[in-house]
Amino acid sequence: MGIPHVLAVPYPAQGHVIPMMELLQSFTKQGFKVTCVNTEFIHERVMKAMNEKESNVVDTIQMTSIPDGLGPSEDRNDFVIALKAIFEVMPGKLEELIEKINETDDNKITCLVADENMGWAFKVAEKFGIKKVAFWPASTALLAASFNVPKLIQDEILNSDGTVRKHQTISLSKNMPAMNTENLVWFCFPDLETQKTVFGVIQKSNEFVKLADFVICNSAYELEPAAFTLCPNLLPIGPLIATNQLGKQVGHFWPEDSACLTWLNEQPVSSVIYVAFGSFTLFDPIQFQELALGLEKTNRPFLWVVRPDMTDEMNEAYPKGFIDRIGSRGRMVGWAPQEKVLRHPSVACFLSHCGWNSTIEGVSNGVPFLCWPYFADQFLNERYICDVWKVGLGLEKDESGIISHSEITNKVEHLVCDNQFKARVLELKEKVVNSVSTQGCSNKNLSRIIDWMK
Ligand code: UDP
Repeated sequence: MGIPHVLAVPYPAQGHVIPMMELLQSFTKQGFKVTCVNTEFIHERVMKAMNEKESNVVDTIQMTSIPDGLGPSEDRNDFVIALKAIFEVMPGKLEELIEKINETDDNKITCLVADENMGWAFKVAEKFGIKKVAFWPASTALLAASFNVPKLIQDEILNSDGTVRKHQTISLSKNMPAMNTENLVWFCFPDLETQKTVFGVIQKSNEFVKLADFVICNSAYELEPAAFTLCPNLLPIGPLIATNQLGKQVGHFWPEDSACLTWLNEQPVSSVIYVAFGSFTLFDPIQFQELALGLEKTNRPFLWVVRPDMTDEMNEAYPKGFIDRIGSRGRMVGWAPQEKVLRHPSVACFLSHCGWNSTIEGVSNGVPFLCWPYFADQFLNERYICDVWKVGLGLEKDESGIISHSEITNKVEHLVCDNQFKARVLELKEKVVNSVSTQGCSNKNLSRIIDWMK
């Protein structure tokens, strides 16, 4: 019998591709053959952003691509168009790819690992009679909420098209973060058509995922005991953090600026505010300037990720004289090696948009948070950080809807001067790091999956 050959299908977004690549490294370490199939658009970005150091990791993972069904000039951020194309075009392309691999490769595909949002791939896998694993890269509470949609309709809280019938706070179980109906994931999109499309995809995914043999989550029992108790068929296998597992950071869409690590080496221990908002967040110019002023007025060193596409008017984005005034105390980079930054001893706190990957990376490295959620599940993650784990503080908007520079400076001071936040996040860090170590629950679950794949 040949070695197992895993075919992986990530969802085409940064926060999905990175953890999938981390998971795949666990399989290559076992000697499995691994092929990762991105959309052509994402494949090109990943390959372009990668430096030579990382390319040897990708040597052990065969990187390939299929079309996403969109033309070169179509807007991939338009979820109505993009999701329609993905569901219509990708299944056929994936089927052709599997056929081709099976004809030409000594090791036929034995197992499909797909992002839960790409559940259509399980239907394709069924045709080939191969094993199927669904990978969920966000919080398990969020997946539990998606699974709960039929009940919300039954309880007449939602209409069958996902629109709200009764606004209220939902709590799936006593120790899970409460969620307002208006924070349900599909409502973060401004227009009704997109909301309905995303809601439809969640409903389809709820059906497709039933085809999977296992559903594995990039989370730990210790982080979300109530969610895993509520959904005992979901298996925690995380947090998968490349640097914790001595793996490599791969699958990034932008080239990383690793010179900021040298700058971090020069800063005092526990002094730096690390500021990053993930791969999507956009800023309006006033809020961007207010953030810059807030960082300036903390009088502390800061490392701020300012993606090239973060605000429309990048050239005039900073307040007048800001760059000169901050000198070498502040550093702006286009894309940071975030996991390495968070594990650097100079970092004091993480001003974050609370994407799930950023959340588990901060916790895994014992860094307390200032929460600035913007979109989708980030509000739910903020509730975990502030209310359940108590390892961070939220930033409040003023009456004009802006987070002011004084709110930023006040909360930074509060967070770094109150040792309890650091103490609690270190305690949580120990639990989650244990979870992925040899005797830990997440590690045992992953080993079980690996044995079953063999
Ligand atoms: N990230 C990074 N460098 C940066 C900013 C982000 O490597 O400068 C990584 C981060 O470590 C995380 C991912 O990008 O793994 C972002 O995922 P997350 O779920 O936090 O946010 P999203 O981009 O999905 O909103």
